[in-house]
Amino acid sequence: MPDRTHRPLPTWRDDDRLRDECGVFAISGAERAAELAFLGLYSLQHRGQESAGIVAIDSGGTARAHKGMGHVSEAFDDTILAGLPGDLAIGHVRYSTSGSSSLRNAQPVLVNYRYGSMALAHNGTLTNAGELGERLTAEGAIFQTESDSEVVIHLIARSRRDVPDHQVDDSLSQLAGAFSLVLTVGRTLYAARDARGFRPLVLGRLGDAIVVASETCALDIIGARYERDVEPGEVLKIEDGVIQKLRPLEPAPHSPCLFELVYFARPDSRIWGCSVDRARRAFGRQLAREHPADADCVFAVPDSSNSAALGYSEESGLPFELALIRNHYVGRTFIHPGQAGRDFRVRVKYNPVTELIEGRRVVVVDDSLVRGTTSRGLVALLREAGAREIHFRVASPPIIAPCYYGIDMPTREELIGSTHSVEQIRQHLGVESLGYLSLEGMRAMVAEHGPFCEACWTGDYPAPLVDIENGSVVGARVP
Ligand code: AMP
Repeated sequence: MPDRTHRPLPTWRDDDRLRDECGVFAISGAERAAELAFLGLYSLQHRGQESAGIVAIDSGGTARAHKGMGHVSEAFDDTILAGLPGDLAIGHVRYSTSGSSSLRNAQPVLVNYRYGSMALAHNGTLTNAGELGERLTAEGAIFQTESDSEVVIHLIARSRRDVPDHQVDDSLSQLAGAFSLVLTVGRTLYAARDARGFRPLVLGRLGDAIVVASETCALDIIGARYERDVEPGEVLKIEDGVIQKLRPLEPAPHSPCLFELVYFARPDSRIWGCSVDRARRAFGRQLAREHPADADCVFAVPDSSNSAALGYSEESGLPFELALIRNHYVGRTFIHPGQAGRDFRVRVKYNPVTELIEGRRVVVVDDSLVRGTTSRGLVALLREAGAREIHFRVASPPIIAPCYYGIDMPTREELIGSTHSVEQIRQHLGVESLGYLSLEGMRAMVAEHGPFCEACWTGDYPAPLVDIENGSVVGARVP
């Protein structure tokens, strides 16, 4: 492994930082760019369900924005899209649990500055946004949002450098942490990824148009061809059908997020040079080798664990069943604050097929345990359905540390893998056996695509946690 700077685990809570999960999309040089952005965002919906937004720029350089709460299909309709003319557009989907679910935090952020309009859509979490925000505020900047992304805009607008290319460079080179972003200044599109490359960003072509998106599934939906990943540290300038590489960011050891492969990305996407489905199947097969079970069948906690459960079935020879049915019209159980209704929410979201479970010894595969509440609720449902034995399998190691680079996770105290041993978790769930995929086993399955950021399983944070260490908070906070 390359020499990574491992920071010690912070010991105090990090409740008041805004942590977003997001997807970004951009297209340059396509008629009705906003409609294509809408479709791209539609396929990135899994990366953020709380708000969606598009900024479109017409041939005269006029930028128009629309942002709305909820799913992409709720935030936009034909009339709204018709009001966003232009051949250049960027879009964003966002999810946050920090109690700041308001439209003013929705992206893209659109402002006017001395070089015209500027719009930004960002995925990732900046770990020094608080520090930068405090400095900018002291210099007179007025923050409109609570989002860490806004510092990028202020840094560009206040840069002493002469032209936008240099101002963008000036801004990006001050950022720490995770960012995969798309940005427009006037009619120029920029796309950039932080030097460690935590979050994905891909480049594609649709005829003469150039597309940038968080995942390849957003290229597929509009029929665009995948060209390549935007590399860690790369800053691209896209204008008039031409992609120009600007000065790259200062290099750092690469640490793409392995949790994207475990849970976050869509299985039909290619991330980190590998198929997400293939990676999850390999995790499932390895899980079966590490934790076999004497059982009658195996099934997934749908949908994020489907590929892993198939892998487990392939390796173990146990028949794969569709024994848990998920209601697709329920938001993520994760979304709702407070523990009170959680078990009930699990029941609303999942229902067992009793005929497949009654009197049987079952293996349940989930991709990850966070708080352990979903799994506990599921076990109760499976017992009610008459399961004779439940062997719970998790296709990733115990999560012991929160993510500060763009995956929404609760505080360390709430992570069951951080506060309980595997045996304690087994008892808590009330199952006959519990097995987690080992970190070594998981790494081995995707070795040629790493090394990765594994902070949530190890507590080793590859990028400095500047704000955590300083206790800084960014942005305009609602009292
Ligand atoms: P929990 O009930 O808190 O243990 O959550 C576990 C479930 O949440 C698993 O089925 C995962 O697929 C899913 N999950 C894991 N990470 C996240 C996340 N960052 N946001 C939402 N759901 C997640």
